[in-house]
Amino acid sequence: MYTITKQKTGQELKESLATFDSLYVIGCGTCATACHTGGKAEVMSMKTMLQEAGKTVTGWMVVPTPCDSLTRFAIEEESDRIASASAVLVMACAYGVQNVAAFTEKAVIPALDTLFFGMEGAPGQFSEVCLQCGECVLASTGGICPITSCPKGLVNGPCGGTKEGKCEVDASRDCAWTLIYNRLKKQGRLDLMRKIQSPKDFQKMTHPRRASVIA
Ligand code: SF4
Ligand code: SF4
Repeated sequence: MYTITKQKTGQELKESLATFDSLYVIGCGTCATACHTGGKAEVMSMKTMLQEAGKTVTGWMVVPTPCDSLTRFAIEEESDRIASASAVLVMACAYGVQNVAAFTEKAVIPALDTLFFGMEGAPGQFSEVCLQCGECVLASTGGICPITSCPKGLVNGPCGGTKEGKCEVDASRDCAWTLIYNRLKKQGRLDLMRKIQSPKDFQKMTHPRRASVIA
């Protein structure tokens, strides 16, 4: 599972970095490396681009997982170079950006947009498979998520628009509910298709969500 990101445009970065003349750049050795948005190669390109734009790069590092608590120690080790920058540019997902921001008083600027949690199918191809709805229905849908895979998020499908196994919203995609039907048929569990699911309780997705794992 990866957090899928894309790089912000040059214009967006130019605007968010306009008031900073020196930067420390942090990349991500996991998800952003897999997405080719914030690994070592992209950090090096960013460094060159910033220098060509007249900025000083006081240092850079690629943290294994910027979203975890160990990032604090990496930031401490680089504290001098970070202190001499006017801002920290983070080439990681928004979790990494917020984690870095928790460990430094410097302005922290995201270089990437965070899109979704994705599962890798073919190398370099990622699909969104879960919207963290807080009320998982995979037990009755053959392990295929209708909330994520059906553009209408139907818990009782298919809708009337499915045609030859394709989705009416995007004909290039398989209808999630046809996939669910085929999977359940193969498993001899088609009775589940006749069961009316209760409407989703979207209150369970109200933000911000919190969880405590301490008993
Ligand atoms: S139903 Fe779908 S969105 Fe909800 S938790 Fe399960 S996989 Fe995630
Ligand atoms: S065609 Fe299938 S996937 Fe598309 S909106 Fe209807 S039920 Fe959902």
